Amino acid sequence: MQREGSWATGSRVRRTTVAIIGAGPAGLGMARVLRDLAIPDVVVFERSRIGASFRAWPEETRFITPSFPGNTFGQTDLNAISFDSSPAYSLRREHPDGPEYARYLEGAAAEFQLRIEVGTDVQDLEPSGEGFVLRTSRGAVATRFVIWAAGQFQYPDLEPFPGAEFGVHSSRVRRWRDHPGDHVIVIGGYESGIDAALGLVGTGKRVTVLGRSPRWRDSREADPSITLAPVTFQRLSSAMQLGAPIEFVEGADILGMERREGEIHVLAADGRSWTTASPPILATGFSGSTKTIEHCFDWNSSSYPSLSPQDESLRMPGLFLVGPEVTQGKHLFCFIYKFRQRFAVVGRTIAGRLGVDTAALDRYRTNNMYLDDLTCCEESRCLC
Ligand SMILES: Cc1cc2nc3c(=O)[nH]c(=O)nc-3n(C[C@H](O)[C@H](O)[C@H](O)COP(=O)(O)OP(=O)(O)OC[C@H]3O[C@@H](n4cnc5c(N)ncnc54)[C@H](O)[C@@H]3O)c2cc1C
Repeated sequence: MQREGSWATGSRVRRTTVAIIGAGPAGLGMARVLRDLAIPDVVVFERSRIGASFRAWPEETRFITPSFPGNTFGQTDLNAISFDSSPAYSLRREHPDGPEYARYLEGAAAEFQLRIEVGTDVQDLEPSGEGFVLRTSRGAVATRFVIWAAGQFQYPDLEPFPGAEFGVHSSRVRRWRDHPGDHVIVIGGYESGIDAALGLVGTGKRVTVLGRSPRWRDSREADPSITLAPVTFQRLSSAMQLGAPIEFVEGADILGMERREGEIHVLAADGRSWTTASPPILATGFSGSTKTIEHCFDWNSSSYPSLSPQDESLRMPGLFLVGPEVTQGKHLFCFIYKFRQRFAVVGRTIAGRLGVDTAALDRYRTNNMYLDDLTCCEESRCLC
């Protein structure tokens, strides 16, 4: 971390009103809201290209939330970033794969005429005067507001326990069929773990899934942030009915891995261990991009950034967070259909501070894209 204001003293300081970091669904959806509000000088800075995280998904991975073009009847496609776009409509897919969804994002960015600067890596930020200065791979940028939308996928937790380097994080696998060995241990039994297991058995391998809790068993939990998505249960039960060689081990709290005599030993807290010649798949989650700007936030007891009711950093007002790392109380906004409902909340706050009319946001409320009353989602209301 450099001294406050130090990056701003160089000769190449550019200025924006709002800098959005990341051209994934969160950054692009947010940019669209600011465009509707007619806020000037909004730039999305993207280190790679639009939808880069989706292009890096394993080839076999598909969306778990279904797309359906219900927008015109007020039921916005669950994977859309705006109420007037739909991956189902533009891709003709219910469960797009990663590159397909990236194509939808590119189309939306072009249609909405968003200003995106690709190939710009934002490395840090610091408060300066009334706003911030960003340190980027292309020089300093001075901006009044920052919206952090850099996601999670590119920031996996690579050290969940000692010896994790003997495995491969699920986000680093491009094709399950390329993973070596006939028998693979998958650590973690939530969405990524089950997706990995199904991908691996699909290529003829045997799999052992080690999980703390048996999420692969049906539960009465309604929130897909906590239980498996219906499509995953469906894929799993179809595979098991056909005799897929997946063994599930519950209560496996993994403490570490060791390599001895060419084999990898996976060790659990209760003394159990498993041995394999193939690098185990770590489906153990993500540390998230906010860890790279850790100094900008206070952190809550669940290791998420503490945010104001407007999703603003408590430590650095003017810095907002959008995307799957947003939490409010016990609410996790980790799916697109959840976190997109907070874009307008951030938009209204920025517009208010700039003295900009917010009438454009009325359409967001009528289209269920404006969630500021969280009592709606206090508990599972699904009765059947
Ligand atoms: C395997 C898998 C399946 C999933 N399936 C679903 C699903 O079915 N439905 C659903 O709703 N969600 C799903 N998710 C979650 C979904 O990926 C995220 O909700 C979504 O990608 C988050 O969008 P985002 O824009 O916040 O992040 P990202 O899509 O990761 O976009 C962040 C962007 O920021 C850029 N970036 C990162 N750091 C910097 C930096 N320092 N400077 C400049 N640019 C930067 C990246 O290149 C990237 O383009 C899935 C996730 C995974 C891993």
